[in-house]
Amino acid sequence: MILTSLLVSLALGQEGSTPYVRSRVAAGNASAQCLYWTVPTITWHNSSVGNPDTALEAQKQREFEAIRASFQSWQRLFVSCGNLRFSEGPLVDDRKVGYELRGDNNRNLVLFRSTRCSDPDVVPASDACWIDDTCGNDYDCWDSDARTIALTLTTYDEKSGIIYDSDIQLNASGFVFTTVDSPQCIPPATGRDNTCVSTDLQNTMTHEIGHLIGLDHVPDDPRSVMFPRAPSGETSKRTIDEGSHQFVCEVYPKGQPSQSCVTPTLDSSGNTTVLGKQSMGCSSSGAGAAWLPSMAGWALLAWRRRRGGARS
Ligand SMILES: [Zn+2]
Repeated sequence: MILTSLLVSLALGQEGSTPYVRSRVAAGNASAQCLYWTVPTITWHNSSVGNPDTALEAQKQREFEAIRASFQSWQRLFVSCGNLRFSEGPLVDDRKVGYELRGDNNRNLVLFRSTRCSDPDVVPASDACWIDDTCGNDYDCWDSDARTIALTLTTYDEKSGIIYDSDIQLNASGFVFTTVDSPQCIPPATGRDNTCVSTDLQNTMTHEIGHLIGLDHVPDDPRSVMFPRAPSGETSKRTIDEGSHQFVCEVYPKGQPSQSCVTPTLDSSGNTTVLGKQSMGCSSSGAGAAWLPSMAGWALLAWRRRRGGARS
C-alpha cells in the first residue's frame, strides 16, 4: 500500500505526464497487484527459425542482432540501477508460447509467426483449437488481429504478481520487419529487401521487452517507449526514455528485492498457485496511409489484453 501511494505521488510530480505505468494482475485496476520478476537473471531464447520470411542468412543474423540490441538497451539500465540481468540462451526449436506450472519446457521465447491462423488453408474453421484458444501453438500461426505488430504473453502468479514466464511473438504475417536505420519506406518500397525502414524490429522489440518486465502502456507521453503507437518507419523507441528508466530503478532497485504494489498475503490454504495470463501488444490500422509524411505515418494503435483461464 505504501508503494501504491508513492507511485501515485510520483506520477503527479511529473507535470501531468506519467513516467511509467505498471502492469497489474487485473488489467487497468490501479489497486490490484503489479507484475514483476523476482529472479536475478531472465534467460531468453530466439527461435532457431528466425523470421521465416527472411531468405538471406545474413539478414536473419541482422534480425537476431536487432533483438539482442533491444535486450541490451534494457540491460544497460539494469546494470546502472537495477537488480536483474538478461542472458541470451541458445537458439531453440520450440515454437510454443505460454507456460505450464509443471512443464519442463518453459522458456522465455522470441519468435516470428509468418502465417495467419485465420487463413482457412492454415487452420480449418472447424478445428477445436478455436474454442481452446490454442491455434497459434498448434499450427504455429499468428492468432491475433492482423494489424497487431507483436504480442507479449506473460504468465504470473495471480496473488503475488510474480512473473513466471514471458514470450514475445512478432507478426511477420502482417508486417515487414526491417533492421536498417533509415530512410523510411515510401511505397512502392516495402522494406522486404531491408533498404528502408518499414516496421523496425529493434523499435518493436524494445517496446515488447518493456511489457516483458512488467510495463503497461503510457498513453499520454509520445516520448515513452511504452507509448501505444508505433508508426511504420519509426525507430525512436530503440532509445529508452527517462520514465521507463525510472521504472527499472524503482521497481527493480539495485541490491534490493523487486517491488510489488500490494504486500502479498500468504495463502492460508497452503499449496495452490493460480496462474494468470495477459497478452499485450500494439496494433496498427490504416497501414495504407501510414507512409504519408503529412500524417507522419501515425497509424492508429490499440492494445489488447486477453486473460486466459486460470490454471492450478
Ligand atoms: Zn504495447
